[in-house]
Amino acid sequence: MGYSPGDDFFIHRGGTEARRCAACTGNPPCLRASAANYAPAWGFFAHRRINRLAVLTLPPEMMVFFKPNIDWVADHATDPDMRRYSTTFEAPRHYIDLDNYGEPPFDSLPRTFPEALLQYADIWGVNPPGDTVLIFGGERPRPFQPGDAWRRYFSRFIVPRFSYEDKSLDVDSLAQFLRQNSYDSTAWQAAFFRESLSMHGILPWHLQKMQRDLTNAFRRRDSKRILRLCADMGHYIGDAHVPLHTTSNYNGQKTGQEGIHGFWESRIPELFADEQYDYFVGKPRYVDRTTDFFWEMVLASNSMVDSVLSVERALRLSIPKDRQMCPDMRNGVVIIAPCRDFAAVYQTALQGMVERRMRAAIHAVASAWYTAWVDAGQPKLGDMDLPIATEEEQQEEEQMKKLFNAGKMLGRPEEH
Ligand SMILES: [Zn+2]
Repeated sequence: MGYSPGDDFFIHRGGTEARRCAACTGNPPCLRASAANYAPAWGFFAHRRINRLAVLTLPPEMMVFFKPNIDWVADHATDPDMRRYSTTFEAPRHYIDLDNYGEPPFDSLPRTFPEALLQYADIWGVNPPGDTVLIFGGERPRPFQPGDAWRRYFSRFIVPRFSYEDKSLDVDSLAQFLRQNSYDSTAWQAAFFRESLSMHGILPWHLQKMQRDLTNAFRRRDSKRILRLCADMGHYIGDAHVPLHTTSNYNGQKTGQEGIHGFWESRIPELFADEQYDYFVGKPRYVDRTTDFFWEMVLASNSMVDSVLSVERALRLSIPKDRQMCPDMRNGVVIIAPCRDFAAVYQTALQGMVERRMRAAIHAVASAWYTAWVDAGQPKLGDMDLPIATEEEQQEEEQMKKLFNAGKMLGRPEEH
C-alpha cells in the first residue's frame, strides 16, 4: 500500500473523522474515531512526560508538595490543548509565527507584551458625523514616539482588554489623553482597538504573564492555583521547544509536507522516547531574566525549522513510498502513520533533535517553576492544603472535556 507524504496519519483534530484516510479505500478497515484518539501538540504523551519529569528534578523543598501531586500535574499537561475547543483566545497562546516578522533574530519585534501590543494595535474612533476612522496605527502611524504618557494610557486601558471579546475603549479617557498630548480634540462618540498579534500567535509573551501569575500564586501559597499554573506552563514551555510552533508553515502545508507537525512532535516521541531517550536533565536553574529565557527558547526552535522540513523532504524522495506510511492501531482504531523504520531514519537524520528539544523542555519547565518559587521568597510548601475542586470548577472541567470530545476547535484549527 502506498501513501503520499501529504496523507494525514492521525485523526483530523478538528473533526470526528479522518481528514483523508487512505485506509478507507482498502485494507485495513478505516474506523471512525473521536478527537480524543488524536494526540495534538507534542502529543498528549510527550506533554505529560515533560510535566512528570520536570517534577522529578525539583529540590526537596518543592518536591514535598509536587511529588504527591505529580499525577495531577502530568494529567493536566494537556488541558491547554483541550481548552482550544472552548475559547478562541486559547489557540494563539500555543505558537508564534516568527516568519511573519522578517528575518532572525527578529530584532524589531518587541520582547515584552505591552510593547508588542503598542506596535501591533490600531485605535479607531467614531466621530460626531458617525464615521468610523482610524486614529492611530496601520497606514496612519502615531504622530509621536510612544512616550511614557502613551505607554501609561496603553497599559491602563488597552493591555487589560486584550483577551476580552469586547474591544471598545472608554471615550472620555481616550479624548482626555489625546487632548493632553495636543493631538486631537474630536468629541469621539465611541472608540475601540484592533490588534494583529493574535493572528500570528503570542506564545513567548503569554509565558511572561504566566511566570508572573505563578510567582504570585507561590507568594500567596495558593496551592490549587500553583498546580493549575504549573501544569499549564509546562504545556506552553513544551510547545515553545517545538520548531514547528514558531512558523506559519506549521504543518508543512506551504511546502507540500502536510502531516510533518504530528510526525515530529507526536509520532517520534511516542515511538522512541521511553525506549531510547535519556531523561536525566539535572537540577533546575534559577533564571535571572525570564523574558529573555522564553524568547531564547522560541528563537532556538525557530532556527531548527529549516532542518525539520528539509531533512524530511529529502527522505521522502529517497525512501520508497510504501516504506513511509504504515497502518497502526491507536485505541482500537486503525490509523495511518509514518512507519517505525521511517521515523527512526528521520530521527537519526535530525541528529537527535527531538530528544534534545524534549530534554531542554523538561529542564526549562522545572527552571521556570523553580524561579517563580525563588522569586516568591521560597515559601514553605509542605503544609499547604489542597482544597477539593468546587462544584463550579468540576463543571468547567466537564464542559472542557465535552467540547474537546465534540471536536470543534476554535481559532486556528490545525496543528498547534
Ligand atoms: Zn499546545
